[in-house]
Amino acid sequence: MLDAVFPPQCPVCAAIVQEHAQLCPTCWNQVRFIGAPYCACCGVPLEFDAGGDALCLQCLTDRPAFDRARAVMLYDDFSRGLVLKFKHGDRLDPAPVFARWMARAGRELLDGADIIAPVPLHWTRLLSRRYNQSAILARHIAKAGGPSFVPDLLTRTRRTPSQGAMNRKERASNVRGAFALTARYEGTLKGRRIVLVDDVLTTGATAGHCARALRKAGADHVDVLTLARVALPDQASI
Ligand SMILES: [Zn+2]
Ligand SMILES: [Zn+2]
Repeated sequence: MLDAVFPPQCPVCAAIVQEHAQLCPTCWNQVRFIGAPYCACCGVPLEFDAGGDALCLQCLTDRPAFDRARAVMLYDDFSRGLVLKFKHGDRLDPAPVFARWMARAGRELLDGADIIAPVPLHWTRLLSRRYNQSAILARHIAKAGGPSFVPDLLTRTRRTPSQGAMNRKERASNVRGAFALTARYEGTLKGRRIVLVDDVLTTGATAGHCARALRKAGADHVDVLTLARVALPDQASI
């Protein structure tokens, strides 16, 4: 009945599709899904398959503060549009599809994790955007079973300038000290395994600082799961 009135639409381009929350074939073909081989730590695609525990040069020289990061797709022109629409466009209908993809890409992270939590927005940003897209993704991922969803595990202690035009070094200092454990979770993270959720992994500066705050609070293991990630961190722009 409902489908006759509101036929299912592709959440990206609004073309009519067979089922709700499904991409149309045109959009589907534009997604550059990440598959092996990738860096065992940060998940960046590698050119050659050097075995399951091979690391990229970046991780070899400067190991991130998180344990592992995995992403569904590469951050390119197509996925940038997809992410921005989701972030600013008040269109939440792709969330279940994105979450399903993320659950698949992050299976090894979610297995055995205790808590799934979003990278927080500063409250002033939350007011202007009305929702935290990372929290919505994390909630959908948790719904399918696995770790418990804790939306307010971390807080953003200060508002940080947008990182769009910043390079790796600038991003690192921009977010330093910007995240802290929410006071009421103090003493609850000892030995816990945590999966942090964000929409895009760029240089990993934000994820790294969140991971540091969680480790300081006693977390045993901090992984990062994102919808998209850049192929070469320094070419990033969001
Ligand atoms: Zn489409
Ligand atoms: Zn790496």
